Amino acid sequence: MIIDAHLHLPVGEKFRTLQEKKEKLLAEMNENHVDKCIVIADSWPESEIGSTDELTDLFPVTEEQRVLVAGGISPDVSFRESLSKLNGYLDRRQIVGIKLYTGHEKFYLDDERLSEVYETALRYNVPVLFHSGWDDAQYGNADLAEKVLGKYPELKLVCCHCWYPHIQKCMKLIKYPNMFFDLSSVADDADTQNDIADSVMTLIEKVPDRVIFGSDSFGCSMKEHIRFIGSLDLAPETKQKIFYDNAKRIYQI
Ligand SMILES: [Zn+2]
Repeated sequence: MIIDAHLHLPVGEKFRTLQEKKEKLLAEMNENHVDKCIVIADSWPESEIGSTDELTDLFPVTEEQRVLVAGGISPDVSFRESLSKLNGYLDRRQIVGIKLYTGHEKFYLDDERLSEVYETALRYNVPVLFHSGWDDAQYGNADLAEKVLGKYPELKLVCCHCWYPHIQKCMKLIKYPNMFFDLSSVADDADTQNDIADSVMTLIEKVPDRVIFGSDSFGCSMKEHIRFIGSLDLAPETKQKIFYDNAKRIYQI
Protein backbone atom coordinates (compact mmCIF):
# COMPACT_ATOMS: atom_id res chain seq x y z
CA MET A 1 0.00 0.00 0.00
CA ILE A 2 1.29 3.45 -0.90
CA ILE A 3 0.36 6.97 0.16
CA ASP A 4 2.14 9.61 -1.89
CA ALA A 5 2.09 12.40 0.68
CA HIS A 6 3.45 15.18 -1.50
CA LEU A 7 2.39 15.96 -5.02
CA HIS A 8 0.75 18.68 -7.11
CA LEU A 9 -1.62 18.84 -10.02
CA PRO A 10 0.06 18.56 -13.44
CA VAL A 11 0.63 21.77 -15.39
CA GLY A 12 1.07 22.64 -19.05
CA GLU A 13 -0.83 23.37 -22.20
CA LYS A 14 -2.11 19.81 -22.51
CA PHE A 15 -4.53 20.42 -19.67
CA ARG A 16 -7.24 22.94 -20.32
CA THR A 17 -9.27 22.44 -17.16
CA LEU A 18 -8.83 21.43 -13.55
CA GLN A 19 -10.96 18.38 -14.31
CA GLU A 20 -8.42 17.23 -16.92
CA LYS A 21 -5.61 17.70 -14.39
CA LYS A 22 -7.56 15.68 -11.86
CA GLU A 23 -8.02 12.85 -14.37
CA LYS A 24 -4.31 12.83 -15.18
CA LEU A 25 -3.48 12.67 -11.46
CA LEU A 26 -5.83 9.73 -10.90
CA ALA A 27 -4.42 7.93 -13.94
CA GLU A 28 -0.87 8.42 -12.64
CA MET A 29 -1.87 7.03 -9.25
CA ASN A 30 -3.48 3.98 -10.85
CA GLU A 31 -0.50 3.33 -13.07
CA ASN A 32 1.86 3.42 -10.08
CA HIS A 33 -0.43 1.55 -7.67
CA VAL A 34 -0.67 4.52 -5.33
CA ASP A 35 -3.68 4.07 -3.05
CA LYS A 36 -3.96 7.59 -1.68
CA CYS A 37 -2.19 10.89 -2.04
CA ILE A 38 -2.01 14.40 -0.67
CA VAL A 39 -2.23 17.07 -3.35
CA ILE A 40 -0.73 20.35 -2.18
CA ALA A 41 -2.32 23.65 -3.13
CA ASP A 42 -0.44 26.77 -4.04
CA SER A 43 -0.44 29.73 -1.67
CA TRP A 44 -1.56 32.19 -4.36
CA PRO A 45 -5.14 32.64 -5.50
CA GLU A 46 -4.18 32.19 -9.17
CA SER A 47 -2.00 29.16 -9.87
CA GLU A 48 -1.61 26.40 -12.43
CA ILE A 49 -1.33 23.80 -9.64
CA GLY A 50 -4.55 25.07 -8.11
CA SER A 51 -5.43 27.18 -5.07
CA THR A 52 -6.82 25.75 -1.85
CA ASP A 53 -10.32 26.84 -2.93
CA GLU A 54 -9.96 25.03 -6.25
CA LEU A 55 -8.49 21.82 -4.84
CA THR A 56 -11.05 21.50 -2.05
CA ASP A 57 -13.74 21.86 -4.72
CA LEU A 58 -12.06 19.35 -7.02
CA PHE A 59 -11.54 16.73 -4.29
CA PRO A 60 -14.58 16.79 -2.02
CA VAL A 61 -14.64 14.92 1.29
CA THR A 62 -16.09 11.42 0.89
CA GLU A 63 -15.79 8.07 2.66
CA GLU A 64 -13.64 6.67 -0.13
CA GLN A 65 -11.54 9.78 -0.70
CA ARG A 66 -8.25 8.86 -2.40
CA VAL A 67 -6.94 12.38 -2.95
CA LEU A 68 -6.61 14.55 0.14
CA VAL A 69 -5.71 18.22 0.08
CA ALA A 70 -3.12 20.32 1.89
CA GLY A 71 -3.93 24.04 1.85
CA GLY A 72 -1.42 26.75 0.97
CA ILE A 73 -0.95 30.16 2.56
CA SER A 74 1.46 33.07 2.18
CA PRO A 75 1.95 36.04 4.53
CA ASP A 76 2.46 38.12 1.37
CA VAL A 77 -0.89 37.66 -0.36
CA SER A 78 -4.46 37.93 0.98
CA PHE A 79 -3.20 36.56 4.26
CA ARG A 80 -6.16 37.37 6.51
CA GLU A 81 -8.66 36.10 4.00
CA SER A 82 -6.69 32.89 3.38
CA LEU A 83 -6.29 32.24 7.09
CA SER A 84 -9.99 32.60 7.71
CA LYS A 85 -10.73 30.28 4.78
CA LEU A 86 -8.22 27.72 6.06
CA ASN A 87 -10.02 27.70 9.41
CA GLY A 88 -13.24 26.89 7.60
CA TYR A 89 -11.62 24.08 5.59
CA LEU A 90 -10.12 22.68 8.78
CA ASP A 91 -13.49 22.85 10.54
CA ARG A 92 -15.01 20.82 7.71
CA ARG A 93 -11.97 18.49 7.49
CA GLN A 94 -11.39 19.44 3.85
CA ILE A 95 -7.64 19.84 4.30
CA VAL A 96 -5.11 17.69 6.17
CA GLY A 97 -2.21 20.15 6.46
CA ILE A 98 -0.99 23.67 5.68
CA LYS A 99 1.91 24.38 3.30
CA LEU A 100 4.34 27.29 3.47
CA TYR A 101 6.46 27.97 0.38
CA THR A 102 9.55 29.29 2.16
CA GLY A 103 12.24 29.89 -0.47
CA HIS A 104 9.84 29.86 -3.42
CA GLU A 105 8.53 32.93 -1.61
CA LYS A 106 10.70 35.40 0.24
CA PHE A 107 9.64 34.98 3.84
CA TYR A 108 11.36 33.13 6.65
CA LEU A 109 9.93 30.16 8.51
CA ASP A 110 10.15 32.07 11.80
CA ASP A 111 8.42 35.17 10.38
CA GLU A 112 6.31 36.70 13.15
CA ARG A 113 3.31 36.85 10.82
CA LEU A 114 3.22 33.05 10.71
CA SER A 115 2.44 32.67 14.40
CA GLU A 116 -1.28 32.57 13.60
CA VAL A 117 -0.70 29.82 11.05
CA TYR A 118 1.18 27.74 13.62
CA GLU A 119 -1.49 28.36 16.25
CA THR A 120 -4.22 27.36 13.79
CA ALA A 121 -2.37 24.13 12.95
CA LEU A 122 -1.98 23.37 16.65
CA ARG A 123 -5.67 24.01 17.31
CA TYR A 124 -6.69 21.51 14.62
CA ASN A 125 -3.75 19.17 15.21
CA VAL A 126 -2.64 19.22 11.57
CA PRO A 127 0.95 19.49 10.32
CA VAL A 128 2.55 22.56 8.80
CA LEU A 129 4.65 21.66 5.75
CA PHE A 130 7.45 23.90 4.51
CA HIS A 131 9.61 23.94 1.41
CA SER A 132 13.30 23.32 2.09
CA GLY A 133 16.43 22.96 0.02
CA TRP A 134 17.07 24.40 -3.43
CA ASP A 135 15.91 27.95 -4.32
CA ASP A 136 16.98 30.26 -1.51
CA ALA A 137 17.34 27.58 1.16
CA GLN A 138 17.94 30.23 3.83
CA TYR A 139 14.20 30.99 4.08
CA GLY A 140 13.39 27.51 5.36
CA ASN A 141 16.68 26.51 6.91
CA ALA A 142 17.27 24.04 9.74
CA ASP A 143 18.04 26.69 12.37
CA LEU A 144 14.67 28.35 11.64
CA ALA A 145 12.84 25.03 11.97
CA GLU A 146 14.56 24.66 15.35
CA LYS A 147 13.35 28.10 16.38
CA VAL A 148 9.76 27.30 15.41
CA LEU A 149 9.80 23.97 17.26
CA GLY A 150 11.45 25.65 20.26
CA LYS A 151 8.51 28.02 20.41
CA TYR A 152 5.81 25.45 19.48
CA PRO A 153 7.04 22.04 20.67
CA GLU A 154 3.61 20.44 20.08
CA LEU A 155 3.45 21.59 16.46
CA LYS A 156 3.88 18.89 13.81
CA LEU A 157 6.35 20.32 11.31
CA VAL A 158 7.01 18.56 8.00
CA CYS A 159 10.23 19.38 6.17
CA CYS A 160 9.42 18.86 2.48
CA HIS A 161 12.39 17.62 0.41
CA CYS A 162 14.72 17.07 3.42
CA TRP A 163 16.81 20.08 2.37
CA TYR A 164 17.63 18.23 -0.84
CA PRO A 165 20.38 17.70 -1.89
CA HIS A 166 21.74 18.23 1.66
CA ILE A 167 19.77 15.47 3.36
CA GLN A 168 22.25 15.30 6.24
CA LYS A 169 20.85 18.62 7.53
CA CYS A 170 17.88 16.60 8.81
CA MET A 171 20.08 14.97 11.43
CA LYS A 172 20.30 18.19 13.39
CA LEU A 173 16.52 18.17 13.81
CA ILE A 174 15.82 14.56 14.76
CA LYS A 175 15.97 15.47 18.46
CA TYR A 176 12.61 17.22 18.02
CA PRO A 177 9.91 14.53 18.28
CA ASN A 178 7.43 16.52 16.15
CA MET A 179 9.81 17.12 13.28
CA PHE A 180 8.90 14.99 10.25
CA PHE A 181 10.67 14.54 6.91
CA ASP A 182 9.04 14.14 3.51
CA LEU A 183 11.16 12.47 0.83
CA SER A 184 9.65 14.26 -2.15
CA SER A 185 12.16 15.15 -4.88
CA VAL A 186 15.12 13.21 -3.37
CA ALA A 187 15.20 10.82 -6.36
CA ASP A 188 15.15 13.64 -8.89
CA ASP A 189 18.73 13.30 -10.16
CA ALA A 190 19.95 9.87 -11.26
CA ASP A 191 23.60 11.02 -10.99
CA THR A 192 23.46 11.72 -7.25
CA GLN A 193 21.16 8.89 -6.19
CA ASN A 194 23.91 6.80 -4.55
CA ASP A 195 24.99 9.55 -2.18
CA ILE A 196 21.41 10.51 -1.52
CA ALA A 197 20.53 6.87 -0.78
CA ASP A 198 23.16 6.75 1.99
CA SER A 199 21.82 9.89 3.69
CA VAL A 200 18.20 8.78 3.30
CA MET A 201 19.03 5.36 4.81
CA THR A 202 20.79 6.98 7.77
CA LEU A 203 17.80 9.23 8.38
CA ILE A 204 15.27 6.38 8.11
CA GLU A 205 17.31 4.17 10.44
CA LYS A 206 17.41 6.94 13.05
CA VAL A 207 13.73 7.96 12.88
CA PRO A 208 11.75 5.28 10.99
CA ASP A 209 8.46 6.64 12.34
CA ARG A 210 9.06 10.17 11.08
CA VAL A 211 10.00 9.81 7.42
CA ILE A 212 7.18 10.06 4.88
CA PHE A 213 7.09 9.01 1.25
CA GLY A 214 6.30 11.72 -1.31
CA SER A 215 7.20 12.18 -4.96
CA ASP A 216 6.65 15.86 -5.79
CA SER A 217 4.90 14.77 -8.98
CA PHE A 218 4.36 16.22 -11.47
CA GLY A 219 7.57 18.20 -11.05
CA CYS A 220 9.36 14.93 -10.30
CA SER A 221 8.57 11.35 -11.29
CA MET A 222 6.21 9.32 -9.10
CA LYS A 223 7.45 6.12 -10.66
CA GLU A 224 11.12 6.93 -10.07
CA HIS A 225 10.51 7.90 -6.44
CA ILE A 226 8.67 4.65 -5.74
CA ARG A 227 11.46 2.69 -7.42
CA PHE A 228 14.20 4.54 -5.52
CA ILE A 229 12.71 4.23 -2.03
CA GLY A 230 11.63 0.66 -2.81
CA SER A 231 15.22 -0.21 -3.75
CA LEU A 232 16.67 0.83 -0.36
CA ASP A 233 17.88 -2.01 1.82
CA LEU A 234 15.21 -1.69 4.51
CA ALA A 235 13.14 -4.23 6.43
CA PRO A 236 9.63 -4.72 4.97
CA GLU A 237 8.01 -3.27 8.09
CA THR A 238 10.17 -0.16 7.81
CA LYS A 239 9.20 0.28 4.15
CA GLN A 240 5.57 -0.07 5.13
CA LYS A 241 6.03 2.80 7.61
CA ILE A 242 7.68 5.05 5.04
CA PHE A 243 5.27 4.26 2.20
CA TYR A 244 2.07 4.22 4.22
CA ASP A 245 1.82 4.09 8.02
CA ASN A 246 3.63 7.32 8.86
CA ALA A 247 1.60 9.48 6.48
CA LYS A 248 -1.62 7.84 7.64
CA ARG A 249 -0.82 8.63 11.25
CA ILE A 250 0.67 12.10 10.85
CA TYR A 251 -2.01 13.41 8.46
CA GLN A 252 -4.80 11.39 10.15
CA ILE A 253 -5.87 9.90 6.82
ZN1 LIG B 1 6.06 20.13 -3.96
